[in-house]
Amino acid sequence: MISENLQNIVSKLPDNITLVAVSKFHPAEAVLEAYNAGQRIFGESRVQEITSKAPLLPEDTEWHFIGHLQTNKVAQLLRIGNLKLIHSIDSDRLLQVVDKEAVKAGRTVDVLLEIHVADEETKSGFSVAEIEQWMSDRKFETLKATHIRGVMGMATNTDDIAHIRADFHSIRECYNRIIGEIAPDLRRFDIVSMGMSHDYPVAIEEGATMIRVGTNIFGERTY
Ligand SMILES: *Cc1c(COP(=O)(O)O)cnc(C)c1O
Repeated sequence: MISENLQNIVSKLPDNITLVAVSKFHPAEAVLEAYNAGQRIFGESRVQEITSKAPLLPEDTEWHFIGHLQTNKVAQLLRIGNLKLIHSIDSDRLLQVVDKEAVKAGRTVDVLLEIHVADEETKSGFSVAEIEQWMSDRKFETLKATHIRGVMGMATNTDDIAHIRADFHSIRECYNRIIGEIAPDLRRFDIVSMGMSHDYPVAIEEGATMIRVGTNIFGERTY
């Protein structure tokens, strides 16, 4: 099942799109099944879960953290050696903690800044204005061990495709302004992470470079 689902998705993906298989709430055996079908990048949303699963998978598995990250869990998260990317940096305060803990751990870490464009107040992240201000203030220059690789965002939870498209468009436009005008000298700022199971085709049309798909690969989650 899992390998068929994966093949279905991967065979239709444009070459330049990176697929993050979101394995949260699914057991390590399910992750291994996807690994054996060729998938290497997995996304998790809870520190405890990623910490317990990571040792059960082969060493070349790449882990992405996509959930809300509490500052008191950062050190634990950074202990995962093959943690490749944190998608969900939703405040400057969190970013400062990540940077400080990465220095302490003697490692570097790649991150994305989360942009909030959706209607739901419960979703977190910087507003477009905040992120652009942060970039024009060149705050990234003060980071010692953290590299900002791009942006991440979610669309409003709605069936209205036009609304979803407009949300993704806002995220990509913000990215374009940063790389085009605000901070064109930023190195390796090349990731736009957007699109989940129900809306990733729209996200790709609107300029995603990375998608995060869970349910369409692993099935429904039981919380
Ligand atoms: C759970 C989750 C996903 C995957 O959602 P699906 O609808 O199962 O594809 C993607 N991104 C984030 C931030 C998530 O928390």
